[in-house]
Amino acid sequence: MGAKMIAGHELLPGKTVKDHIHVKGTELHVPHVLLCGNQPGPTVLVTAGIHNAEYVGIQAAIELSNELDTDRLCGNVIIVPLANRSGFENRTMSRVFEDGKNLNRVFPGDPQGSESELLAYMLFEVFIKNADAYIDLHCGDGYETLVPYCYYVGDTPAEETAKRMVECVNVKYVVRSRCRTGGAYNLASVNGIPSVLIERGQLSLFSREEIEADKADVRNILRCLGVLEGESVSYPKQELYEYNDDAPCTGCWYPERKAGDRFVKGEKLGEIRDYFGRSLFTEFAPADGVLLYQTASLNIIEKGPMVSYGVPRNDT
Ligand SMILES: [Zn+2]
Repeated sequence: MGAKMIAGHELLPGKTVKDHIHVKGTELHVPHVLLCGNQPGPTVLVTAGIHNAEYVGIQAAIELSNELDTDRLCGNVIIVPLANRSGFENRTMSRVFEDGKNLNRVFPGDPQGSESELLAYMLFEVFIKNADAYIDLHCGDGYETLVPYCYYVGDTPAEETAKRMVECVNVKYVVRSRCRTGGAYNLASVNGIPSVLIERGQLSLFSREEIEADKADVRNILRCLGVLEGESVSYPKQELYEYNDDAPCTGCWYPERKAGDRFVKGEKLGEIRDYFGRSLFTEFAPADGVLLYQTASLNIIEKGPMVSYGVPRNDT
């Protein structure tokens, strides 16, 4: 049997590849790094920049691609540090530049679709499908504040391994996602590839501490999967279900609470007003919970994100 192939490259022991892959039917070229361990083991995929203005993960992925040593890997680490490169180069927020779509809502993509769908299709067919485990790095976009947390997908064949992977992430909260379509990591888990999504950083800012924390989480997961030597560390966390309240109208947004704040049912979370200062809508907490992320920009857009919060999972 020949060596495993990814993106046209054979995964041979000790090999490092840094290349771009062309997305068929588009002008897009996606950077990727293949790090092939000297010893056999699983193939782990790390992606960042599916949302192109979420810089903590992008920089962490770039640094990991230069720091992980193939001599010390048992298995392969595949890194896609900037999935939505055209968005990055045109400084969009969370959108593919060519068609204005949110890449993390269009998986599994469509080989006959527009740029986002073609890109998602390639990412799934070339990278995700060929991985044994998958880590997707995100953070708060330019208009979002966020408390660090992570996700896995519940009720999938990959759940047990995904749970072991989220245990390795050094954050206080984990969301058990019930979403099975649209997102890259959701699709991976539904297809039996254990996956986690890590959220760390906000407002398109990036700091050394956050980048190091992302890198430490990825390394810890690689230890847990046996790709890196050493024992992994488990971090206890509270398990939540996530709820997203989108904005009912466009206007000016005045949040009352901060990301990471806990609140009780009925508390005021924020208000939308018009351009004369008149109240259009008041958001009250529908349940006791913790604010995971929220829009922090003055502008808010009808049917766009407003507040996302977690409610403790009580059915375990
Ligand atoms: Zn994101």
